[in-house]
Amino acid sequence: MKYAIGVDLGGTSIKIGLVSEDGKIVKKIFVDTEASGGPRKVICNIKNGVHQLLSEINLPIQGIGIGCPGVVNPQKGIVENPPNFYNWKKVNVGRPLSMEFEKDVFVENDANAAAIGELIFGNGKKYHSFVMVTLGTGVGGGIIIKRKLYHGDFSAAGEIGHITIDHNGPKCNCGSFGCIEAYAGSNYLRKRVWDGLKQHPRSLINKLIEKNYDHLTPRKIKEAADKGDKFAISIIEDLGVKLGAAFASVSNLIDVSTYIVGGGVAGFGKPLFNSIQKTFSSRVLKSLQPRVKVVAAQLKNEAGIKGASALVFNET
Ligand SMILES: [Zn+2]
Repeated sequence: MKYAIGVDLGGTSIKIGLVSEDGKIVKKIFVDTEASGGPRKVICNIKNGVHQLLSEINLPIQGIGIGCPGVVNPQKGIVENPPNFYNWKKVNVGRPLSMEFEKDVFVENDANAAAIGELIFGNGKKYHSFVMVTLGTGVGGGIIIKRKLYHGDFSAAGEIGHITIDHNGPKCNCGSFGCIEAYAGSNYLRKRVWDGLKQHPRSLINKLIEKNYDHLTPRKIKEAADKGDKFAISIIEDLGVKLGAAFASVSNLIDVSTYIVGGGVAGFGKPLFNSIQKTFSSRVLKSLQPRVKVVAAQLKNEAGIKGASALVFNET
């Protein structure tokens, strides 16, 4: 059996796991990112975490995979401007780690790592080509074409979250307007629901969150929808329409018909997936209509660690 280390580098914590080639996590640990300490501190914390894990589990590893936010140059292992990381412009994360552990190190954008994770371990196993979409605070994407990740000219491909669906729409974090992320990103979604609750004072959501914005999470919206709350259901269905419209545009452009959707907001489940599928099928060009498909990601909570380790197994 082969093993690899997967590192899920987030703004507040670094999740590190030792993963077998059949996709099982043998052991995992979490360490604080301490992003405010700057890049050197963060890299030092990754090194210490990996050392700790390897000292606890004495198994030979094939290499180390790292998934992180921001634009990544996978050839050089350079991570550019990850959001929520202090004093970080262009930093080579790959080299110091490959020198420390004398192993191959593969660095990818986190949504791309999630796509490779589904390709190697998850629901992507049975598809030649698909688009991975991660619905969380941000909306990320990764494009797999003929079982290879498509990077684009500057390694920035797959940013499905910044496809404009309304050029007069709300302002997005990226500076543009009416991007998918400005509707589906969890904070934008919460804000929209919060504003909408004023017109729907009797919605069950109000009761569940006790009129406290901090309690307004995608999970609470789902809970209300599951109990038949019309406003909650309408929010989820509307989100599906928006995503379905974006998927149809992407599909028309690149003729990839399978979309694998994961991340916290995908936890809305069936009502969301049915709504995406309905809009997607009806809006894509006719010749593609019978083929388009939306499926849930298979890797759930551990998608970060598993996706990062899959970067190693994908190469070795
Ligand atoms: Zn945007």
